[in-house]
Amino acid sequence: MANATRRADLAVVGGGVVGLAHAYAAAKRGLKVALFERHGRARGASVRNFGLIWPIGQPPGAMHELALRSRELWLEALEAARLPYLATGSLHAAYRDDEEAVTREFAELGRDLGYDCRWLPPAEALIKSPALVTKHLRGALWSPVELTVDPRLVIARLPGFLAERYGVELRYGCAVHSIALPAIETGGGRWETERVVVCGGDDFETLYPGVFSEAGLTRCKLQMLRTPRQPNGWQLGPALAGGLTLRYYPTFEACASLPALRKRIAGETPEFDKWGIHVMLSQTAQGEVTIGDSHEYGLEVDIFDKPEIDRLILGYLRGMARLPDETIAERWHGVYAKHASQPFFAAAPEAGVRLISVTGGIGMTLAFGLGEKTMAEMLDQ
Ligand SMILES: Cc1cc2nc3c(=O)[nH]c(=O)nc-3n(C[C@H](O)[C@H](O)[C@H](O)COP(=O)(O)OP(=O)(O)OC[C@H]3O[C@@H](n4cnc5c(N)ncnc54)[C@H](O)[C@@H]3O)c2cc1C
Repeated sequence: MANATRRADLAVVGGGVVGLAHAYAAAKRGLKVALFERHGRARGASVRNFGLIWPIGQPPGAMHELALRSRELWLEALEAARLPYLATGSLHAAYRDDEEAVTREFAELGRDLGYDCRWLPPAEALIKSPALVTKHLRGALWSPVELTVDPRLVIARLPGFLAERYGVELRYGCAVHSIALPAIETGGGRWETERVVVCGGDDFETLYPGVFSEAGLTRCKLQMLRTPRQPNGWQLGPALAGGLTLRYYPTFEACASLPALRKRIAGETPEFDKWGIHVMLSQTAQGEVTIGDSHEYGLEVDIFDKPEIDRLILGYLRGMARLPDETIAERWHGVYAKHASQPFFAAAPEAGVRLISVTGGIGMTLAFGLGEKTMAEMLDQ
């Protein structure tokens, strides 16, 4: 009997969102899946993020299409697992001439490029979001597509759904130490499997370290903050981004007006460039507001957080949004894998094995689309 439980059609390494999404895609195709997570519960980037499914952050074409497909699959999984989400959409608020120029330009361009978005004058933007600061507000770019989930809740509960609905075998507190198909060696002993997908996030050292080091991956550290539950059921409405965000996502590279905005920010507030700061807000279904973030790059992540970064984020926030309760209840940082130009890293170091790591702050957005794509590549060839 013990041997019967130690065989799977597919082993997934990693219990973050990318691993869970791959397990979901494989299990839907009828594979017997075993999922291995080294910790007792996931504690990587997938439980430290904003919970934003953010297709508007993806550049036009294949990546935007992948994000939209991923969003569909997210909705399918969230509904099936009866997990809460908020179909909030998003607002990029403009407070400066150049921010207005970029958001207006993208509202025009975006429609032809497949984005469902439009420019809102200040009065309409304020109807969408009670949090926006009125002073100097020039308007906002509205997109109805973005979703918000509570990452901690979703990543904690999805595994149980996968086990119950699809019989996915969950092995938490069980690291995978080596792969030599059909065998994999884990902290819980040897397993046999036909295929393995490694979704280890920013763990480049345990499995196939040579492949990861040749791929030129590094790490990105982000500082985050969260308020307590807002009083009286107060709702943020759309997830909010501001002018700094326009220089962060590649979507807006399509705008001829973007370089002027970049130049102004670099000259006026170089500290935002120094720490890679842009300011976004999302709200959990329980009412807390998550605020971030910064970007510090390098394989060796500073274990200590910088009060200056929190101060800069909160200072910028005050010009953009006000919350009924601005107490900071939690501070943390998260780390994700980063590549200078690729949005995700996918490799097949040997037959039957795939390494998948999302190499930018977009793993929540892409996970389910990538899961489907990887399984199609592995099974349909
Ligand atoms: C602060 C922050 C904010 C972000 N905001 C957003 C957002 O709003 N929207 C968005 O789209 N993206 C966002 N991202 C990015 C997103 O969170 C990540 O891209 C995504 O979570 C990566 O998921 P993952 O499963 O690959 O990695 P992880 O969540 O790090 O999970 C990898 C797991 O693999 C396990 N593991 C590794 N090696 C082994 C092994 N050998 N054996 C067993 N287990 C192993 C680890 O323990 C870990 O739990 C954000 C990231 C951060 C840090």
